[in-house]
Amino acid sequence: MAALGNPVSRAFARVLADVRAGDHPGRLADYIPELAKADPDAFALSAASVSGHTYAAGDSTVPFTIQSISKAFVYALALAEHGVAAVTARVGVEPSGEAFNAISFDAQGRPANPMINAGAIVTTSLIAGATADERFERIRRGLSAFAGRELRCDEAVAASESATGDRNRALAMLARSSGALDGTVDDAVEAYFRQCALLVDTTDLAVMGATLANDGVNPVTDRRIVPSIVARDTLSLMSSCGMYDRSGQWLFDVGLPAKSGVGGGIVAVAPGEYGIGVFSAPLDAVGNSARGVAALRMLSEGFGLHLFRHPDRPVSPVQAVEIDARTETVTMRLRGVVDFVAAEQIAYQAAETMDATGSRTLVLDAADVAASTRVAALLLGDLFAHVREAGADIVVVDPEGTLDPS
Ligand code: GLU
Repeated sequence: MAALGNPVSRAFARVLADVRAGDHPGRLADYIPELAKADPDAFALSAASVSGHTYAAGDSTVPFTIQSISKAFVYALALAEHGVAAVTARVGVEPSGEAFNAISFDAQGRPANPMINAGAIVTTSLIAGATADERFERIRRGLSAFAGRELRCDEAVAASESATGDRNRALAMLARSSGALDGTVDDAVEAYFRQCALLVDTTDLAVMGATLANDGVNPVTDRRIVPSIVARDTLSLMSSCGMYDRSGQWLFDVGLPAKSGVGGGIVAVAPGEYGIGVFSAPLDAVGNSARGVAALRMLSEGFGLHLFRHPDRPVSPVQAVEIDARTETVTMRLRGVVDFVAAEQIAYQAAETMDATGSRTLVLDAADVAASTRVAALLLGDLFAHVREAGADIVVVDPEGTLDPS
């Protein structure tokens, strides 16, 4: 038999071809000469699933600098290191509605969020290290753990970021004057410049995104990189602030947490499902990869990834109900994953059937239940208590312990 290849990579190749055929004008970033040297034609799309499989199409081994995409992951590292209270005391969580490099501080003197430069420089400064080099090395190792391989810095890009980085120094200075930034301005910005110059490819971005999609565990290396709550908090900010001045439009149209960078990369996350990395260097008017945005729009639409669209009705968790009038028993045969919605249906149907038939025993047969969630256990535990209080018996057949509402 010929090798099957895989349908995901083939679907991605079609997305790349369709976007290439369309008109998505963009310009290479040129605030430093190194970025203007990028190949404007290179275009790649990768994905990594929470099961740890990776897929790629196009120029997926072409390296580019991570730039602002690093902000999301360094924020995650800062949250993991200090906890949310200490971090939000210095950097807010509100969209700024201003350019990424704007002088944007709230009434408490905090940068609006960690995705704008002022906020990112503060988050970088929160990563432990006695010097900029130590801090950068810790960041490099953290982002490498997200990617599942050793990332390295493009020192030429870092050097020209530093040579032209006075606006970022000014932002750091203002953050210091408001008390958001401790330590020296140079320590913070030099680590920040180097973090922006880390080289990645689209598969790195996909695995980094998949780690956030997978509750903070890198699905390729199986290592926990950040706590579950940190993955959630980081994705929340990517949803509201990740795409420069198009973050609102992006959430509206594409409906996925994402972060882009002026190197032409974008990471997007389908929570619980995939991380996606895309790269094409020419940028649109707000600094997002023009073709990258087009590809992700197409993918969101084609794969039904928008977070707020749920056209499919869930499969009923109750596959059969048997009523035995002689023994006054109602038996409900359950199936699938019992989550909040499923538990709600089970409880509703149990109460209705027990009341209507005046039965004295409720049997829940969970042999076909694959798993249940904590909230389901809570709701079903409450149901069982009330069945008993009403003077009826409850029998749970749970050979695999998958329902376990105890
Ligand atoms: N190193 C760039 C800066 O701080 C990052 C810009 C970006 O990707 O938004 O200006």
